[in-house]
Amino acid sequence: MRLSVFDDHRLAAWAGDDELVELTELIEPTVDPPRRMTALIAGWERLAGRAAELAASGPRIDRADVTLRAPQPAPSKIVAAPVNYHAHQREMGGDHGFYRGDRIQTIETYVGFVKAPSSIVGPEQPIELPYADRRTDYEGELGVVIGSTASRVRRDDALAHVFGYVPLLDITLRGAEDRSFRKSFDTFTPVGPWIVTADEVGDPGNLVLELRLNGERRQHGTTRDLIYGVPRLIEVYSQAMTLWPGDVIATGTPEGVGAIGPEDEIELTIERVGTLRMHVTARYGADVSVAS
Ligand code: MN
Repeated sequence: MRLSVFDDHRLAAWAGDDELVELTELIEPTVDPPRRMTALIAGWERLAGRAAELAASGPRIDRADVTLRAPQPAPSKIVAAPVNYHAHQREMGGDHGFYRGDRIQTIETYVGFVKAPSSIVGPEQPIELPYADRRTDYEGELGVVIGSTASRVRRDDALAHVFGYVPLLDITLRGAEDRSFRKSFDTFTPVGPWIVTADEVGDPGNLVLELRLNGERRQHGTTRDLIYGVPRLIEVYSQAMTLWPGDVIATGTPEGVGAIGPEDEIELTIERVGTLRMHVTARYGADVSVAS
């Protein structure tokens, strides 16, 4: 099933490519609207049957009549994998202007970082560039949405804790600030247009990922080349922090990372998951004096 959030945080399942069916009624009315998707995920074992019934027979809504939001607008955290493809490690190591000659290690050294959940944005809002004179990059990634509480999970059991997958962009300001800070600006974690449930994806270790910038292919990789695959990421991160239903893991980006500018169009396609299209705009003058 493909699940989305639209308008004032209503929930929907997709019925074909152009129509949705509303699922909001499955969630208690006392739930804070931005947390409805988390409630749906946490209750999925109990709610999946009714959701499937509604998706098959509920009234159709034309996709053109709604505004899509991020399909998970309020996870408790986004945990992200740094330098999780060897080819990306090589290109970062060659970028001495940004890394000042330091040797770039991989995820085996850096392990992970967190992004602020407030950086999430949906497909119908723009990515906002905060500075005219700082380089900001795209990173196309497979996003994993956790389905059930995971604490100290072993990798053989890890995929049972996955609810689904989502195309995700890890937008990154380059520079000297801490990694979590540079990647947590508002609009720096686009996700969507939907979460695909894990049963429709199968093995997350064999998915082709392609990113186009203004129509030109810039990234083309496969999750087979991940240094830590999805089960290992869940194993490692759940040693340190309990992963809750609705939490998001950004699995890392393949080679081909590059800069974005105002009015650029980014298109990220992940096999069996979907295509996320994002527009980039300038919001210069958000003038906190950070280092450059
Ligand atoms: Mn990344």
